Amino acid sequence: MRNLVKNHWKGTNSFLSFYLLAAILLWLKTYMTQQTQFQLNVQGLLQQFLLFINPLGSALLFLGLSFLFNGRKKYVWLMVTDTLMSILLYANVLYYRFFNDYITLPTLFQTQNFGDVSGSVPSLIRPFDFLFFLDLIFLFLLLGMKVVKVEGGKVSRKRALAIVTLALGLTCLNLGLAESDRPQLLTRGFDRNYIVKYLGLYNYTIYDAVESTKASAQKVMADSDDVIEIINYTKSNYVEPNPEYFGIAEGKNVIFIHLESMQNFLIDYQLDGEEVTPFLNRLAKDKNSLYFDHFYHQTAQGKTADAEFLLENSLFGLPQGAAFITNGTNTYEAAPAIVSQTKGYTTAVFHGNSGTFWNRNEIYKSFGYDYFFDINSYNVASDEDLAEYGLMDKPFFEQSIDYLVQLPQPFYVKLITVSNHYPYKIDEDLTTIGKHHTGDKSVDQYFQTARYADEAIEQFFNELKETGLYENSIIILYGDHYGISENHNDAMETVLGTEVTPVVSADLQRVPLIIHMPGLKGQTIHTYGGQIDLLPTVLHLLGIDTKDYIQFGTDLLAEHHDQVVAFRNGDYVSPTIYCIDGTYYDPLTGEEIKDPDLLKVAEQLKTKVENKLKMSDEVINGDLLRFYTPPGFTPVDPSKYNYKDQEL
Ligand code: MN
Repeated sequence: MRNLVKNHWKGTNSFLSFYLLAAILLWLKTYMTQQTQFQLNVQGLLQQFLLFINPLGSALLFLGLSFLFNGRKKYVWLMVTDTLMSILLYANVLYYRFFNDYITLPTLFQTQNFGDVSGSVPSLIRPFDFLFFLDLIFLFLLLGMKVVKVEGGKVSRKRALAIVTLALGLTCLNLGLAESDRPQLLTRGFDRNYIVKYLGLYNYTIYDAVESTKASAQKVMADSDDVIEIINYTKSNYVEPNPEYFGIAEGKNVIFIHLESMQNFLIDYQLDGEEVTPFLNRLAKDKNSLYFDHFYHQTAQGKTADAEFLLENSLFGLPQGAAFITNGTNTYEAAPAIVSQTKGYTTAVFHGNSGTFWNRNEIYKSFGYDYFFDINSYNVASDEDLAEYGLMDKPFFEQSIDYLVQLPQPFYVKLITVSNHYPYKIDEDLTTIGKHHTGDKSVDQYFQTARYADEAIEQFFNELKETGLYENSIIILYGDHYGISENHNDAMETVLGTEVTPVVSADLQRVPLIIHMPGLKGQTIHTYGGQIDLLPTVLHLLGIDTKDYIQFGTDLLAEHHDQVVAFRNGDYVSPTIYCIDGTYYDPLTGEEIKDPDLLKVAEQLKTKVENKLKMSDEVINGDLLRFYTPPGFTPVDPSKYNYKDQEL
């Protein structure tokens, strides 16, 4: 009996030692792989620490599955799990060498991606790659040469529980620290690089699997009948274009300038008697510019990505997360595909950040963008050139123009600026205006980065003129979302010199929209509109009929344009009624609406807004555009696009 107890104890103990050895080896191997094989841009001690500990929890937990088994089986399970995790790790290394990205379930099932990788696997393998399996070889040798004796029995419940608790505890600690450094890491999705950096590759894989499954479950539930209701809706909301403007920019190059965090209150704002954005101010008043001073952003959590999504599709972003991430492989009838198919445009995006950010490198394919120039297309000469969110705007525009002049014309392009990004840090020697004096650091700095962006845009306009592109282009500048959130409304009272009431707060959601073209009859337009409206407006300027497309906005220049601007949370603004947090206000007085007749109208509008948002969500969640191809339109085949080896 004593012997039996002793043997039993020894048996579990040696398996436990073997398990711990395997887990530590897997942990260290994964850490070294993440550190050396991926460009994670790890900054600061906390991020270094998280990168170090993040594989430990998963290694302990997954290898700990072997505790469920008896005798030899637990060794088999341990080694099988260890091997599978090692293969997953190595597969991601290979995939990363090819795509600069991590494997996602949806892309894995895109035949083209798979074909691309599997065809070039031999060229991706390096001589030292056997190191990725060194720990496994070592463990198999220990077993094979009987250095470690296979022992019977099961790991005691107590010990198993203690280890699993430790593993889960580590994972929770990891997640908590990650959230503190990067709030909303999982709900907003951001970037695969971020998830891997903070949570490690194994947790990333689980996250990706959960998100993809959720998205595809909703797709599976949808069928072709669902789109009929949507078509009826968008057809009945369609408004005829303004004949005065229809086709006025036909055949012109289209240049979108995405103004990061630029709010409309900056236009003509004076700080200590000095204009903050002198170039944009002049441009807004230029005789060749249409300037919309009641144009609102309609973004939610996806912010930048939501703005792009609204603009390219005239569909709303999702209430949570970002369609860019969760629905990157949907069928879309997006602007690039429309202009290229109807008018022979070449289409491209320029962005001084990594291509994986917001899943752009995937969703742009679904939109039909021919080219995507990400940070890999740019030279970063010095640290000063690099902002937190990518290449600074001045070198960005300077280098983008070299690509622009090579693009076949007419082209449809979008340039995404990044310098004016929260928390608005900028090198002192790049500033040409002082800070504000509210005492709120990010608010005070905002004026300096906005000034820098203004100068960068002026420089870009000058370059467009020098290269001759200016003369045959229509240039559209839009702010993507607020820069100063409602959390800073106290500071904004100092900035504006007025109380920030609900109505003022809603009007702070205005972003600049300037449509500029030599020969355009310029004016300031007070029409209420939002980002959802820009696509039909621009298509009509280019002489493209939008009647048959599923779009939720209406042409800002049309006589019957719908001036009720829906916010993503179901609130809205219009020339006569503002709905803010479910309360109705008169925008002229700022007072709550009491008149029962007007309240009735306000409630009807609220229902209308909520219905519109719901329909748009159904299109995205159900991937309904796959069931409807507008006449003359060819569905986009994302597998035909490859930005990795693009050549002009
Ligand atoms: Mn943004």
